[in-house]
Amino acid sequence: MSTWVISGARPLGGGPADIILTDGTISAAGSGAAAPRGAQVLDATGLIALPGLVDLHTHLREPGREDAETIETGTLAAALGGFTAVHAMANTDPVADTAGVTEQIWRLGRQAGHCDVQPVGAVTVGLAGSRLAEFGAMADSAARVRVFSDDGRCVSDAVLMRRALEYVKAFDGVIAQHAQEPRLTEGAQMNEGVASGRLGLAGWPAVAEEAIIARDCLLAAHVGSALHICHVSTAGSVEIIRWAKSKGWRVTAEVTPHHLLLTDDLVASYDPVYKVNPPLRTATDVAALRAALADGTIDCVATDHAPHPVEDKETEWAVAAHGMTGLETALRVVQEAMVDTGLLGWAGVADRMSARPAVIGRLTGHGRPLAPGEPANLVLYDPAARSAVDPATHASRSRNSPFAGMTLPGQVIATFLRGRPTVLDGKPA
Ligand SMILES: [Zn+2]
Repeated sequence: MSTWVISGARPLGGGPADIILTDGTISAAGSGAAAPRGAQVLDATGLIALPGLVDLHTHLREPGREDAETIETGTLAAALGGFTAVHAMANTDPVADTAGVTEQIWRLGRQAGHCDVQPVGAVTVGLAGSRLAEFGAMADSAARVRVFSDDGRCVSDAVLMRRALEYVKAFDGVIAQHAQEPRLTEGAQMNEGVASGRLGLAGWPAVAEEAIIARDCLLAAHVGSALHICHVSTAGSVEIIRWAKSKGWRVTAEVTPHHLLLTDDLVASYDPVYKVNPPLRTATDVAALRAALADGTIDCVATDHAPHPVEDKETEWAVAAHGMTGLETALRVVQEAMVDTGLLGWAGVADRMSARPAVIGRLTGHGRPLAPGEPANLVLYDPAARSAVDPATHASRSRNSPFAGMTLPGQVIATFLRGRPTVLDGKPA
């Protein structure tokens, strides 16, 4: 194994330090540590060092939609965004609802080697919402599945949701809910509000999300189980989660970068690049989500990276697919929305994008401090860089970034996975 000396980096945005990586582990972090003979040296003067980022919500599309993304391209995009682990959502084809499919995804992730891939198992067979999948077999498989989600669809049947929450208790699992009351969102095209009225598009009311979140918090409390709420998008949802947490219930939540930065005003362009589920909301919602991420009511940032081929996005609004890419821009958007606004420091970013998602996702080798003896998973980031987002340069197979053309701060310079560089000089290593 190789040894790396990362000199002059600023761990969590603090004073400069040297970080030495030996045999996949951080062997020293501080000033004045002697560089071992034969070590490779990376001058990281001025760069922020953070623990490798962890995404709880990535759509890698393989198996089934390799025209949109593969595990190879999606995990390379993740590494270029500073991630060392991603949770792969279950809505593939075939659906990740068996030990066999989840093990296949896990193995393909290991072969690609750009970051760790932790499969998420489906809650219901085929995501059909009628019968629970075999959680136990997925949990006992080589993939060691702990997070279960029908993401893309809501587990709307309350009895099924209760049983799922009961079932995962046996192996400390968590149900990650896509909160969308289906009857309240039939035909919905964008956030219900002033903008939807003006544009004449069918509205997607906040209550459709909030009603499910309230119900599921109550169910999780009733059975004493762990609930994680995917992509929270409304101010009302934040209030419900704050209340559930005040009761000491085992409820956690995530917010996407796009919901921290963009609003439903963008839909006026009718450009489907802004079509996403849950929809972009109002400036009031964005402010509430930022405040909730800052005070910890929302535990973490998760990308909901949702690649789609051109033919599914560059079409008319009503028939275009929901979703946006996000792995390669997540940290930059969080700097823009949270750090440069003074809402969160770099230690807070490390907590919300690495430590907490690792705990929620039950990953023991990620989200650890940058300290001796810890796994050498880290990202080096230049907060002073500034450039326009150009999806043509992205490693993702898809180009549907809502940040295209937008000037954002920051650049990932290097990513290390267990002491091995996956990204150097901002490029695949
Ligand atoms: Zn979702």
